[in-house]
Amino acid sequence: MIDLLDTTYGDRAAEWPANELDFHRLSATGWRPTPFRQIVFKINSRCNLSCTYCYVYHQADQSWRGQPATMSPAVVEATARRLSAHARRHELPRMQIILHGGEPLLAGHDYLRNVVERLLAAVDAGTALEFALQTNGTLIDEVFLELCREFGIQVGVSVDGDPAVNDRRRTRRNGTGSHAEVARGLRLLTSERFRPIFAGLLCVVDPMSDPREVYESLLAWRPPNVDFLLPHGNWTARQPARGGDETSTPYADWLGDVFDRWYPAPEHETDVRVFLEIIALILGGHSHIETVGLSPSSVVVIETDGSIEQVDALKSAYHGAASTGLAVQRNDLDEALRHPGIVARQIGLAALGPECARCPVHRVCGGGYYPHRYQAGSGFRNRSVYCPDLFALITKIGRQIRADVEKAKAQGEH
Ligand code: SF4
Repeated sequence: MIDLLDTTYGDRAAEWPANELDFHRLSATGWRPTPFRQIVFKINSRCNLSCTYCYVYHQADQSWRGQPATMSPAVVEATARRLSAHARRHELPRMQIILHGGEPLLAGHDYLRNVVERLLAAVDAGTALEFALQTNGTLIDEVFLELCREFGIQVGVSVDGDPAVNDRRRTRRNGTGSHAEVARGLRLLTSERFRPIFAGLLCVVDPMSDPREVYESLLAWRPPNVDFLLPHGNWTARQPARGGDETSTPYADWLGDVFDRWYPAPEHETDVRVFLEIIALILGGHSHIETVGLSPSSVVVIETDGSIEQVDALKSAYHGAASTGLAVQRNDLDEALRHPGIVARQIGLAALGPECARCPVHRVCGGGYYPHRYQAGSGFRNRSVYCPDLFALITKIGRQIRADVEKAKAQGEH
């Protein structure tokens, strides 16, 4: 559970970016926003689990309480029209729709089919819609998977390791663990028929767990990709393991141990997204995720009531942090592109605070994930609360990659 150090937040308008970032001033310099290409579509705002670290239910923002449980047909319709207009205006060849929650499968089979069919019908043939679904895995059944197979919906499952590790945090409201049901869902998803729609696993790092045991337990499902995520926290509300002692790097130590198991493996076992992204950045490439690097974010969230929100992990910062004040019933998605919070996630280097700007790894790190930079009073122009871990992990991976590049060059010269 997150450690709330200070819940008396000051005036947000005085915090960065609201106090300073001006879309029109930026536009006058020639800067242009990046259109939204990833739409997190919150079809259901409730969940049958109550994971201890969940940013929706157990962190600063409690707006889920006022959200309808399921997105109404009218909101689905309004969203479909906004997406279609956005894709047409920006001539987007593809958009990714991430069916999300809460737990999206709580919406039911017919509901899911209707949403997908409605979106497909609304968007012009020139824009390919790619669907993904992120689930806690407990409600997976054959009917859902046949539906996902029919529409090519890629299914990602959240699981934190073996039963002992997973069930410490991924629990029901009565405290009982979820692993047995997740494993049942994963057995079905990883069967021969459904394996082509298995997108991978999402695991939130617990530095108290054994990194290699967790990694091996995830590998047992033969996932094409594993996403390791840091639990959300910030300078005002830290995770207990990310204390103020900056000589300690529990998350980098944990991830570094997994890297040492993953990188030299004689055969490619799975993609680990965060490692591949860091390696690509070290080699001079760009990031495709928001948690590292300086690439502009193209993610927007549509809540069940039609609110257009920035990124849902911001719910860990303060109540209302993800809000834009806009909604698909009234506003075009382009209006959200002018919101200071969305602009801040698109301007890369210009969003970094002075410490990050001076940091030798800032091009790779990117200051860390935007929600993790929050401090009440100053806002988001700070280094990440996970700065010591990010610095240590990037330095470690950088050493390995540079040594291998040198070795390859030396071999090429002989
Ligand atoms: S390692 Fe720390 S100081 Fe360096 S860019 Fe990342 S968050 Fe900023």
